[in-house]
Amino acid sequence: MKILRISLLLISTVCTSFLISCKDDGVINDLFFPVEDDVELGRQVAEEIAGKPEEFPVLSQTAYPDAYNYLNAMKSEILSSDAVEYADLFPYELKIIDQDVLNAFATPGGYIYVYTGLIKYLDNADDLAGVLGHEIAHAERRHSVNQLKKSLGIQFLISIVAGEGTSDQIAALASNLLALKFSRDDEAEADEYSVIYLGDTDYACNGAASFFEKLESEGAGGGPEFLSTHPSPTNRVADINAKATEDGCDTNPIAESGFTYADFKNSLPQ
Ligand SMILES: [Zn+2]
Repeated sequence: MKILRISLLLISTVCTSFLISCKDDGVINDLFFPVEDDVELGRQVAEEIAGKPEEFPVLSQTAYPDAYNYLNAMKSEILSSDAVEYADLFPYELKIIDQDVLNAFATPGGYIYVYTGLIKYLDNADDLAGVLGHEIAHAERRHSVNQLKKSLGIQFLISIVAGEGTSDQIAALASNLLALKFSRDDEAEADEYSVIYLGDTDYACNGAASFFEKLESEGAGGGPEFLSTHPSPTNRVADINAKATEDGCDTNPIAESGFTYADFKNSLPQ
């Protein structure tokens, strides 16, 4: 595999040198960096995050079982959509970071982090499901791998996956991921897929719109993942709702019984 990759890298160099358009299409990208490698990349970032509890105070699953049960049930519901391609390949591990930050992010390969600040800021389950759908889409559509490839270079990523990354390189990978600015197209696509995934669930399929509506009405700023967006919140809300209308999916809020979103918020550290 290593020999194959080295020769593919040479081909890549040739393509660049002669301005042949043979990079960045799906097929070549998969040859250089198969989607299975996203999982290993994500796993190493997750390990890095777990090793820095001061920077990333992740709530433990044993100390907060109710919160994690609620969040994992929401995740499973979204992953049950047939439109999620890598539900079996990606681990889709969810972690809650206890910081008052309006943000969520996903690593390549589907390790997803949600801040308590965001959970508490949102009003209902549909809103958070919309954000989760959006983050799952970033992993599924390989947006972060493509951005990391641009910022760090594919050789860097390949050496990390091969287990040859130094601790400094893995730290750089994690900080690059957290500072990623997705393109307008990536953000629009993640919003669109959030509607598609939620359309297969009991959640309002336009749930992602509520977050941007609230951000805009309150003039609040989200974390890097959401601040970096070029489409203005107004446009994003309009586009999400237009996609919901086009798909004819259900925009009624989910009818929760038992442990509700309010209970979920109350189960977090106050
Ligand atoms: Zn995004």
